[in-house]
Amino acid sequence: MVFEGVVIHKVPYKERDLIVKLMLRNGTLGSFYIYGGQGGGKHHKPTIFELGSMVKIFIREQKSSRVEGQELMIAGESQRLWEPTHVRHNIQAYYLICLYFEIIQKFSIHFQLGTSEYENNEHEGIFSVLSNALFYLNDSLQKELFQSQQHLTLFMIKLLFHIGIMPDTDHCSYCGANLLETPGLSFLPANGQFACSQCVTAENERGFLLRIKKAYQTKYQNYTELAGTNFQEADKLIHFFCHHFHLRPIELKSYKLLMRS
Ligand SMILES: [Zn+2]
Repeated sequence: MVFEGVVIHKVPYKERDLIVKLMLRNGTLGSFYIYGGQGGGKHHKPTIFELGSMVKIFIREQKSSRVEGQELMIAGESQRLWEPTHVRHNIQAYYLICLYFEIIQKFSIHFQLGTSEYENNEHEGIFSVLSNALFYLNDSLQKELFQSQQHLTLFMIKLLFHIGIMPDTDHCSYCGANLLETPGLSFLPANGQFACSQCVTAENERGFLLRIKKAYQTKYQNYTELAGTNFQEADKLIHFFCHHFHLRPIELKSYKLLMRS
């Protein structure tokens, strides 16, 4: 059996082995045991399992093994298909991809040999959001157009849409009024909805609403068209995500690092 996916987590094990977690093409998470995965050895083999790399793994047996309480598939031959070469030279971009991986792990389903169906593509939208996010983040670094708040905003909107919790950007969540026709409106991170100024009195967030609509319509390859993004707004999306999954933003360790970098 062959799996393809993005490396989102890795832990060295024993002297040269590696335990890696992939976001698989079908949008679930698969954990693998890789003999010699750390690279090195007599021939100083480099590792192909850098975070964010797209890899292909053949598994040896059609059954998994339990290592330290984790169900792992034992990898045979592995191959790297793509790597985000520019990310490792930019600390902000690196924390950003780590944040993506942390967020993904908060809600994704685990793939289990024998019980899950690899061909099931119910969740593949999650994989496409992540792989596009990595590809175009690397692209923006290469073109020296990288803006972390722009990428974070686009990622969060695409993700919320694929998880099925995209805020309603057309109507007030209380009275149903058309948001574009109301004099003011505000975002409520606790329920991920907008309210008109008749229903809730708060700071007017029309710009945020328009940027959400724009991000939703913007294809990943046109990321530079998403102008005016900022961290305050991206933070509201993170808060909404966390609220929905009963997390606190402080639990996202790379988020704190990203904000400080
Ligand atoms: Zn209203």
